[in-house]
Amino acid sequence: MSEDPSLIGDDQWRKKLTRLQYEVTRRKGTEAPFSGEYCNCKQDGMYTCVCCGAELFSSADKFDSGTGWPSFTRAAQPQQVKTEEDRSHGMVRQEVVCSACRAHLGHVFDDGPAPGGLRFCINSASLKFSARDEDSG
Ligand code: FE
Repeated sequence: MSEDPSLIGDDQWRKKLTRLQYEVTRRKGTEAPFSGEYCNCKQDGMYTCVCCGAELFSSADKFDSGTGWPSFTRAAQPQQVKTEEDRSHGMVRQEVVCSACRAHLGHVFDDGPAPGGLRFCINSASLKFSARDEDSG
């Protein structure tokens, strides 16, 4: 994307995204558990931001958390996501956002598998999956 995604206005996101994608990424929504298209995806590839295309999570770091949302032990590149304290819904959670466009992605919890112990709980609606091209290795 040539345009700086952090400068894209709300009305433009509304046009670019589906209603669910918009509600999740721009309104901090949450898709229903087990409803997302990537919950059970086990293909090799990269999950990019549905809003701006930034590479966020690798299939290599995806694990089956049983929660109903795509779950990862880490971001593909640490600087691609940011965390912010979220005190909504009577809880204190760490929200995960796209560094480039500030899309809401999900939350990160400290009950993930060893050694890192993190569980990035991410909405499918905030992601776009690209399968790895076998030919390019
Ligand atoms: Fe983004």
